[in-house]
Formats: sequence, structure tokens, C-alpha cells
Amino acid sequence: MLFSFITIMLIILLIVCYCTVQLSLQNSNLTTAEQNAITIDLGLDEATLDKYPKLIYAQVKLHKNKANSTTSCCSICLADYKDTDVLRDLPDCGHLFHLECVDSWLKLHATCPVCRNSPLAKPVPLEVSH
Ligand SMILES: [Zn+2]
Ligand SMILES: [Zn+2]
Repeated sequence: MLFSFITIMLIILLIVCYCTVQLSLQNSNLTTAEQNAITIDLGLDEATLDKYPKLIYAQVKLHKNKANSTTSCCSICLADYKDTDVLRDLPDCGHLFHLECVDSWLKLHATCPVCRNSPLAKPVPLEVSH
């Protein structure tokens, strides 16, 4: 009686182990595929980044409206802007960052580091001419 109970327990244990391995295998496959998709979807390339306006901080200060909505330091590296610093103006939300700081960020994430808006243009539906 005890022997058969142990045998049944062992069989159940084996089945559970087998299922766990199968599940973890499936999960790891899924996450790899998802990670690939995310990397392809989110990163911006140099060509896209080059289309975003570049500004010298001295010029930004001349435009009162722009300066009001802008802090005097970069939210990524937290350094104060110098008049000669080249800044990147994100087209969607108008947030400003150092060119080098935001470019390396946008190559990994296509969102503004401050407000999480995507500077990517909304996909334009292809117009089919009839
Ligand atoms: Zn910076
Ligand atoms: Zn923003």
C-alpha cells in the first residue's frame, strides 16, 4: 500500500517536472521573440533622429515661449545647459535635451524620457487612389 503510494507520488512529481521544463522553455522562447520585436519597434535610427530639430541653447533662450516650458538643465544627465550646448527639440512634446544624451536614449526607446510621449510621427495610412 505504502509502496504504491510512493510510486504514484514519484510519477506525479515527474509529470510536474516535465511540465515545468516545457513551460519555461516556451516562456523563454516567447520572451526572446518579444524582446526582438520591442527592440525593432522602439529604437530610432540615425536618419530619424537627424530629422528632429537641433538648437543651440543660446538660441533657445531668445525664444521666450520655448524658454518658459524648458528647464535650464538636461533631464538625462542633470547638467546645466551652456550657451554653446547643442540641444535636441523633441517634435511631439517640445522637451529639450542635450543632443548626445537624448540621441543615445532614443536609439533604445522611442519615447521622451520626461513625458513618455513618442516623438515618432503617427503612422500615416496609405492612401489608395481609386
Ligand atoms: Zn544631458
Ligand atoms: Zn516630452
